[in-house]
Amino acid sequence: MMWFILAIVFAIIAIMLHKSADKTEAKGGYSGSMPSVSVPKTPPKSFWEMYKGDNPSKASEIENLLKIDFSKLSDKDAKEKIASVNRFAKGLKCEISQIKVTYLAEVEKYPARLLPEMIASTLREQENEASTYHISKSNTMTALMTEWLRERHEQLGRPDAKVNAPSSDDEMEIVKALNPSVTEALDLNERLKTLRQMSILLKCPMRELRDYYINDVKKSYDGKYENFHYLPEAYKYMASKAFEVASSAGVKPVNTSYGIMCDWLADFMIEERERFIETCQAKCIMCGSRDIKLNFFKDHFVCKSCNHEFGGL
Ligand SMILES: [Zn+2]
Repeated sequence: MMWFILAIVFAIIAIMLHKSADKTEAKGGYSGSMPSVSVPKTPPKSFWEMYKGDNPSKASEIENLLKIDFSKLSDKDAKEKIASVNRFAKGLKCEISQIKVTYLAEVEKYPARLLPEMIASTLREQENEASTYHISKSNTMTALMTEWLRERHEQLGRPDAKVNAPSSDDEMEIVKALNPSVTEALDLNERLKTLRQMSILLKCPMRELRDYYINDVKKSYDGKYENFHYLPEAYKYMASKAFEVASSAGVKPVNTSYGIMCDWLADFMIEERERFIETCQAKCIMCGSRDIKLNFFKDHFVCKSCNHEFGGL
């Protein structure tokens, strides 16, 4: 289940934080208008380059979803894949960044033993979709479904042995470094188990998980004071999820992936709050004063002019 939980976490953050970015992006699809004056020495732009220029955030959502480098695709493949992703989003009535999570949430409604049948049926469906839309089978949305179903099948089939194996000293050092505030052996062991799962599912070495997560946050949150509130919002969401998933994960809420990510996010928020004070970006929401300090626990900003406390969890 952990992979699914993680997927939701990242998707939720991405959705929350991307929303504001999307608003500023030019509306309307790729119009294909060509510049009237051609410059002989520059090679013509590929379909993908033009699409990316017109829809930067949509383009990055598509790349993140498909995990492929579109600049290496032919115009035909890029065009077909983009069209399939758009059709998929429309069918699921969701944003592009949510497609995988939404689709897999549907899949979850059925017993896992049906996965091989589902894979066989999406494979068959690729033919129909390809001929209906006159596209290559590999560019269909059913090809994507097949890939994700196989991934899911593989995840479920993976023995827990790797996750529950005894820890090496090196590995424990990494767990401690990633969770500096945790000292209890029980907590460290539970976090080891969770971090192993995260590492497998995210295909990321354990020692790099924190950076991986913070980079993911930074991809969406632009570091502006006005957008800082997204971070405590994400924190609150993840903290409530930690309680929700703890029993099925078999660990304490603080030691679930949500709990661990909450810790990382909290540290990042503290750094951000300090930066806002240092750079005088923090501003009182009541009186507008920029004479702001951090309170004792560094959980809040406090206005020195009107004593209003704000911005905390
Ligand atoms: Zn004030």
